[in-house]
Amino acid sequence: MQGGALDAARCGRLESSAPRDPGRAASRGVALMGRMLFVTGTDTGAGKTVVAAAIVAALRARGMNVEGLKPVATDVAPGEAGEDATLLAHASGRAPHDCVLATFTLPRSPLAAARAERRSIDVAALLRAIRARAEGIDLLVVEGVGGLLVPLTGTATVRDLARALDAPVLVVARAGLGTIGHTALTVESARLAGLDVRGVVLSDVDGGTDPGFAQENAEQIGAQCGVRVLGIVPYLADTTEAAAHLDVDALLDDGGGAALHDEVVALDRRHVWHPFTQTSEWRDEEPVVIRSARGCRLVDAHGREYVDGVASLWANVHGHAHPKLDAALREQAGRVAHSTFLGLTHEPGARLAAELAAVAPPGLTRVFYSEAGAAAVEVGLRVALLAQRHRGQAQRRRFVSLTESYHGDTAGAVSVGRSEPFHRGLDPLLFDVLRVPPPHLAGEDESLQALRTTLQQHGDQVAALVIEPRMQGAAGMWPHSDAWLQAATRAAHDAGAYVLCDEVATGFGRTGDMFASGGAAVTPDVLTLGKGITGGYLPLSATLVGEEIFELFTSPYGEHRALYYGHTYSANPLACAVARASLALFEEEQTLQRARRLADTLSLLLTPLTALPGVAEIRQRGVMVGIELGPYDPALRAGRRVILAARRRGVIVRPLGDVVVLNPPLVLDDADAALLVEAVAESIVEVCATLPLREGVPA
Ligand code: PMP
Repeated sequence: MQGGALDAARCGRLESSAPRDPGRAASRGVALMGRMLFVTGTDTGAGKTVVAAAIVAALRARGMNVEGLKPVATDVAPGEAGEDATLLAHASGRAPHDCVLATFTLPRSPLAAARAERRSIDVAALLRAIRARAEGIDLLVVEGVGGLLVPLTGTATVRDLARALDAPVLVVARAGLGTIGHTALTVESARLAGLDVRGVVLSDVDGGTDPGFAQENAEQIGAQCGVRVLGIVPYLADTTEAAAHLDVDALLDDGGGAALHDEVVALDRRHVWHPFTQTSEWRDEEPVVIRSARGCRLVDAHGREYVDGVASLWANVHGHAHPKLDAALREQAGRVAHSTFLGLTHEPGARLAAELAAVAPPGLTRVFYSEAGAAAVEVGLRVALLAQRHRGQAQRRRFVSLTESYHGDTAGAVSVGRSEPFHRGLDPLLFDVLRVPPPHLAGEDESLQALRTTLQQHGDQVAALVIEPRMQGAAGMWPHSDAWLQAATRAAHDAGAYVLCDEVATGFGRTGDMFASGGAAVTPDVLTLGKGITGGYLPLSATLVGEEIFELFTSPYGEHRALYYGHTYSANPLACAVARASLALFEEEQTLQRARRLADTLSLLLTPLTALPGVAEIRQRGVMVGIELGPYDPALRAGRRVILAARRRGVIVRPLGDVVVLNPPLVLDDADAALLVEAVAESIVEVCATLPLREGVPA
């Protein structure tokens, strides 16, 4: 059975580029800083090649398996490998052509040199080739081209290449006059892009720099940039001489990863209280300390990579550290990080509102901002209740929702989404709600009939029907048909109630359409959004209504119809700016199309898992997937065991009870989708082999 899942992954030719054991290979017991080191210059001709080759030679002399690679070289005659590759090859014990991936004739930027030959640089292919070269060796020293912002293509620079490789950076700078400014600019540019600057090397490429002056520069750079200067290489030094002037030991640590892990865990154990976490179990677990992230991978303090299989709680859309989202955040931070939305407005908030209205189901033109999804639901409930009152229907004070649905953790949201055993004991905080059996438990016809009966009996008291369209997500990943949703909406409207669609989870492409309600041809009166609104970057949520409802709240002061609700950080400009950039990416990167494709890929990969012992059912809508295990005694914690086993295989997923949830970023590629499903399948096989099914039948 296990083979089934694995075969599916392979049949689809979905090969993974990720190392299955993400632990680093480190010869001779030495902890390396990573699988790669990216050597960049402050400028062209700063002496990077000699430094890169010197590092390769020095580490190889210690018995480590280290190689150098120049991905792109210009000013290289056709058929040649070029001087830089030759030097790296000599140090690496390889042939020159092994040490360069793409060469161009003209001494220009890679973009210009490639254009002159009517060629272009395929950055994705370069990345694949570089990563392949790093496999199985201790360290690959990758030499950049010129400085960090040198263009490789119309949209990608050398810095983007270093970012995508997630490699620490060594900056090589001139030793003499002007080096402080250039080095500081390079270090700042690297850090702005989230790169880890591991050190600076000064090189006297121009010759004649007074050693005292070079030393003075080194000290100033160290102090000003907060970076270690690992050496000053003399004029015309060859690889051996350069190596003698470099502190390569400084490259032989893991950047403090292990120490960082221990320190964070110690502080966490002493002071932190985690959400939705069993404190007793947390104390026994070895926590994963997330240190950075790129694309669909999270990286822990030890440098281990994990596929983010739940999109950081269903929020991440376009991948982590996306250059456009990072840039939007930085740009806005440079203007204003926060200014209240009570009585003032700002550009990101106003523009985002218009942009959301343009993609929302028709007629939802007014946007009220909060931070958490639960707050958006609280606002939605108040708006529905008060709108009914303002339009002369004050007796409509009740809400209808599905039994065991989930709408967030504030009191109003829990009232409509109460579920056992999570909300046990909270009743004094909650209000009474009319509950209808959900379509997945009762059957669609029966559920609809129950809704109609409830509305017949109480319809004139109902303010709104509250529902998650297409998929009851946190309730356990339970889908229903668009026809059911349409009929339920119609029934509520016929009874004079509003319909509140909670799309905190289903919004922003997760079910294959921008919004599930819109995709199902349903127009809610109130729409709540959260999670993916900022692409998964910052806390922001929104409650959308149409003009008719908005106008009900617009009246002379004495009537007190204003919506007296708001948070200090409502419409935070940083979050709004990133949300705008995220919406733009949906267009620019065809995110919805990619999400649909990913949904198909996941469906294909998941099919064989239905036959695994221990898997009761797999439910999917778009990229939202629930793999129901068991039935097991809940005390066995089957879901938790599976996610911990998956973590050991380099995948982060989370359970909802004994439902293992997959809900990745919408841009997860085929290889990572295969890795995700394969790791989960193997984990299910491993865990379920040891657990008895609830009826006592061995799994
Ligand atoms: N509504 C739904 C449908 C949700 O899934 C969630 C969170 N999982 C919420 C509301 C609450 O969102 P938040 O966690 O941002 O408060």
